[in-house]
Amino acid sequence: MRAVRLTQVGKPLEEAEVDLPKIGASDVLIRVAASGICHSDEHYRAGISRIDRFPVTLGHEIAGWIEKVGGDIKHVTRGDRVCVHYLAHCGSCEFCTRGLEQFCCTGEMIGKHRDGGYAEFIKVPGRNAFVLPDEISFEIGAIMMCSSATALHALNKARLKPGESIAIFGFGGLGFSALQLARAFDCDQIYVVETNATKLASIEKLGAVPIDANKGNPIEQIAEATKGKGADVSLELIGSAKTMRQAVQCLGALGRAALVGLTAESMSIFPYTELINKEVEIIGVSDHLAAELPTLIEFARRGKLRFPPDALRFVDLDAEQINASLNAFQNSIDHIRTIIKVASDR
Ligand SMILES: [Zn+2]
Ligand SMILES: [Zn+2]
Repeated sequence: MRAVRLTQVGKPLEEAEVDLPKIGASDVLIRVAASGICHSDEHYRAGISRIDRFPVTLGHEIAGWIEKVGGDIKHVTRGDRVCVHYLAHCGSCEFCTRGLEQFCCTGEMIGKHRDGGYAEFIKVPGRNAFVLPDEISFEIGAIMMCSSATALHALNKARLKPGESIAIFGFGGLGFSALQLARAFDCDQIYVVETNATKLASIEKLGAVPIDANKGNPIEQIAEATKGKGADVSLELIGSAKTMRQAVQCLGALGRAALVGLTAESMSIFPYTELINKEVEIIGVSDHLAAELPTLIEFARRGKLRFPPDALRFVDLDAEQINASLNAFQNSIDHIRTIIKVASDR
């Protein structure tokens, strides 16, 4: 089969002819229909996130048809449409049995630690294959398995409840999904803090309240908008100490700040006035859980999570086109998502 692989850090991906993977009793073989090109793939190629095993086929946002099923797998059969949970995990360790497989000691990220979806076929553990309803295209089924799933996990970790308000810091891929999913939770007002004029306009178009951080302190703007109460939940999706601190400061009594963005900076807090007095919680968020995916898939099926067609770009399973899309991440600020159309029929 054909695959597009990373053979060396800092080098363009290369096309290769590789053997069709052999599956075990607990695996499935998927004929890939669509594979999302993610910003983290660019980080793998550039060596910003470390990879130890080469060559490796990248791609962790995957949807396709079941081609072969291992003997132990009962929930899918040949021909089923599926999307893939990107963390291959043991299923039996202390964390896996508690449904917290993101902490599995032998967990492997698909498309990083093991071969991913920039290929005609992929082998994954059967438990990683989730049935994709007919209402959801393969393209959307692929890309929602990364940032949208993590946005949902952040809302779950923050325990957003119907009628509560939320402040979202940053309107990139995560923020775009978080806004729509927060609404699917029947929350009250959604405030989105941004500095980019185009993004501020699309926040407003999506029915949320844009908070322009260029026009003064976002904390004061949120305080004013909530009549001094503060937000019930905040999500920090940017990865900066400044906005993390703002995500804590914008909260009212019993508020929860979920921190998702990555940074090496440290953040300062006044424990008495900013945490203790208000019983505010600061919550770390990493990845997402397999158990959350059925809800995500159902939101997408009911049209609560959408990706506008004009924001999607398509390329072939072709090294040159894929490398060009990875290059484009270096200066992109919009919500354009590029998807490899690997196959359009079985
Ligand atoms: Zn991704
Ligand atoms: Zn495990």
